[in-house]
Amino acid sequence: MFENLSEKLERSFKLLKGQGKITEINVAETLKEVRRALLDADVNFKIAKTFTEAVKEKALGQDVLTAVKPQQMMVKIVHDELTDLMGGVSTDINIKANPSIILIAGLQGSGKTTFSGKLANLLKTKRGKKPMLVAGDVYRPAAINQLQVLGEQIGVPVFTQEGSKNPVQIAKDAIRDAKQKGCDVVIIDTAGRLAVDEEMMNEISAVKKAVDPHEILFVVDSMTGQDAVNTAKEFNDRLDFDGVVLTKLDGDTRGGAALSIRSVVNKPIKFVGTGEKMDALDVFHPSRMADRILG
Ligand code: GDP
Repeated sequence: MFENLSEKLERSFKLLKGQGKITEINVAETLKEVRRALLDADVNFKIAKTFTEAVKEKALGQDVLTAVKPQQMMVKIVHDELTDLMGGVSTDINIKANPSIILIAGLQGSGKTTFSGKLANLLKTKRGKKPMLVAGDVYRPAAINQLQVLGEQIGVPVFTQEGSKNPVQIAKDAIRDAKQKGCDVVIIDTAGRLAVDEEMMNEISAVKKAVDPHEILFVVDSMTGQDAVNTAKEFNDRLDFDGVVLTKLDGDTRGGAALSIRSVVNKPIKFVGTGEKMDALDVFHPSRMADRILG
């Protein structure tokens, strides 16, 4: 579906070589290709522009014009710059406290409930933790049921309060219950709406205030492109979250949202969802995402 950027660059440089010396203008031409590829990958226009300007400076600074293999050097510079922009290395979640409280936020349909289950599963199977899931989406009985089914599937307790419409109370009671049961991580799934609204933000802010979470993760559907960036900004303004979870990366998105979100909210992406199954969760690696964006 997408053309491979590395190949494109190789091709444009080959053309240039035939014409003799590579010049600054040629580099600019190549950077146009880079920018186009970023836009294809759904990176925000302004970010793509700033990015290519930064790459241009680096390229000229490193004397790409006289390099033996300028095309390879360009690809490397672009790749490294993308990696750096996305944080360079992976960032872990804060699960040192006992119990550690993790609050999950995001729009309805972004994949919050699925991610909550996946995270519990990962912490249980790979990190030796004893997590508890909390059904805090009080508006959708189906969401409570969905979490119960997931909990059963992965063998993790799920705290629910049937009929309650008070997520603050549910969260507080759940933490008490977790302590009694010896659970060391409490993952609170919250209600989402189809768009950001005041009531939802007030509600999740109230839960945040009441339980003082160690980690707030914002879940966003990577397929929503530019909207993902706006949503991230609104949630971050209200919640000052600690990290981002990009879901549905198993789809045909190039993942440009990762770069845009990181640039706009300056918070690390911590996990990526790659499917509907409970083990379809990966720790976010900036370098791998740079590969994906470049194609
Ligand atoms: P919530 O409303 O935010 O809790 O969203 P859900 O967890 O219910 O997810 C909405 C839909 O997206 C469900 O059909 C999930 O199976 C699906 N989903 C969630 N994460 C992923 C993912 O990483 N990949 C794919 N392909 N589907 C996902």
